Amino acid sequence: MTQLQSEVLEKRRDQAFPKLTAQQIARLEPYGTRLATRAGHVLVEPGTPHQNLYVVLAGSVEAIMPGHRGDALITVYAPGDFSGELSTLRGVAGFARLRVREAGAVLAIEERKLRDIVQTDAELSELMMRAFILRRVALMNSGEGEVMLLGSRHSAGTLRLREFLTRNSHPYVNVDLDGDPDVQALLDRFGVGVKDVPIVIGHCGRVFRNPGIRDIAEYLQMNPAIDESKVHDLVVVGAGPAGLAAAVYAASEGLDVLVVEAIASGGQAATSSKIENYLGFPTGISGQALAGRAFVQAQKFGASVSVACSAVRLRCERRPYAVELSDGRTVKAGAIVIASGAQYRELPIENLSRFVGNGVYYAATHMESKLCQGEEIVIVGGGNSAGQAAVFLAGSCRHVHVLVRSAGLADTMSRYLVRRIEESPAITLHPYTQLTALEGSDRLERIAWQTKDGPVPERRDIGHVFLMTGALPNTKWLDGCLLLDEKGFVRTASDFNGGELAAAGWPLARAPYLSETSIPGVFAVGDVRAGSVKRVASAVGEGSICIQFVHRTLRDVA
Ligand SMILES: Cc1cc2nc3c(=O)[nH]c(=O)nc-3n(C[C@H](O)[C@H](O)[C@H](O)COP(=O)(O)OP(=O)(O)OC[C@H]3O[C@@H](n4cnc5c(N)ncnc54)[C@H](O)[C@@H]3O)c2cc1C
Repeated sequence: MTQLQSEVLEKRRDQAFPKLTAQQIARLEPYGTRLATRAGHVLVEPGTPHQNLYVVLAGSVEAIMPGHRGDALITVYAPGDFSGELSTLRGVAGFARLRVREAGAVLAIEERKLRDIVQTDAELSELMMRAFILRRVALMNSGEGEVMLLGSRHSAGTLRLREFLTRNSHPYVNVDLDGDPDVQALLDRFGVGVKDVPIVIGHCGRVFRNPGIRDIAEYLQMNPAIDESKVHDLVVVGAGPAGLAAAVYAASEGLDVLVVEAIASGGQAATSSKIENYLGFPTGISGQALAGRAFVQAQKFGASVSVACSAVRLRCERRPYAVELSDGRTVKAGAIVIASGAQYRELPIENLSRFVGNGVYYAATHMESKLCQGEEIVIVGGGNSAGQAAVFLAGSCRHVHVLVRSAGLADTMSRYLVRRIEESPAITLHPYTQLTALEGSDRLERIAWQTKDGPVPERRDIGHVFLMTGALPNTKWLDGCLLLDEKGFVRTASDFNGGELAAAGWPLARAPYLSETSIPGVFAVGDVRAGSVKRVASAVGEGSICIQFVHRTLRDVA
């Protein structure tokens, strides 16, 4: 058996595996059951949901991660050490085998009791939560795992699965068909060919050829069980910043919360390499790190989060409301928070995702304007957001090129913006022009655009491109249930006039609460809401605030 190698463990072993004091163990005693152990006895097998957390009282217990390259020893727990990681807290399948090395005794604490501890004992909560997070980061960082992903870095399917496993913090072995010399032997061993990529090979050698994320989530038991007969207090649709904030506040205030998320927690924010305008992080934080923390926080308070699980329909004719899911199941709740966000329209350009945040931007705030001060830039789009960005950035950039596919701006942009663009010597409008290429190594260095009837694409040394081509709301699943605006964003509270609400069948004497939609007890927060600001902080704020109104609507119908 080899030792698990991970930089995180080398640098932060003391925090990943802290020792409990006698006093702390005494505080844990009432939550657990003392058990005598004998050498060789397996306390937990990998893949088992609802594992206990074990505090070693005497003897020792080894934690082993079985993997495709053989077993790896994670650590040996001695008296005062405790087992567990994020899966223990979530009650989903874990990755490690816990085997008694030297006979002794352990304190076994059930998942439910573990949650009580982290919610009520501040000192133990900090110690355990930090250890759980670092242990998971160490597993991810080791490059080991029971799951192997074979694929090509040039295949969109491989990238989709890689992103899914990474964003859900699931450890896996990555085999790149383009760079691994032993790849043919592996393909032969599992009876698969290059045409089958991406291939996921699970424990016991089970092979998935180009699987969907739902198949993988199910096979890896990533999600807690869903009880269809239960009526939750709240179902949140979408686990971006808005949905996670709603889940954290609702669960921490004692509501029974289920979150359903189509892909992975974090939403669009998780794709941002560095968020620099979120309060409390003066040096910035990666979207993935922020999302990971929020996800763990939601679990700590007992929210149940299911990933790779889309809402496909909202049934809002009567309360409790029902949300139909992509796997055919239906979940019910007294209140619903719609936090399904929006997607920026992407241009069909190779390399685009590589440069997002490194020369390609979806917003033109003061922060971005600093990045391209004194430089030549390109803005793609002919709507008001593109016009505002052009006028704003022309104040600090050397020159602004606005590319539009159509003949001009008159049909799509407000007249005052068109005039300012026409009058500004720092802005050039390029009609009938499309961006065709993005080039560079670590960041964007060159671009090309093609004008209709132009002989060849024009290449320029420009390192900043603003894509202002609009966002599409993720609201197809609402299917006529609620009042939406003309672009499909969900309208709430102050957007309505009395007549509209009455016509839509609003049944109550009171007006909708803040963030409440045209259906009582159904709220919309974050980017999916009509008129939203489209920032992480505002999404988090809206998700948090709406919970006080969720309480009120639940009381209204009680
Ligand atoms: C590349 C990039 C960089 C950014 N950088 C910044 C920044 O630096 N600072 C800043 O303030 N803002 C930034 N933003 C904007 C910010 O990320 C968004 O405003 C914020 O994420 C909105 O949060 P949300 O929860 O409302 O929606 P989203 O983040 O869009 O999350 C919605 C979630 O709902 C899920 N979903 C959709 N449909 C369904 C369904 N039917 N069923 C279940 N789940 C569903 C999606 O998978 C997604 O996870 C950036 C955006 C992008 C794309």
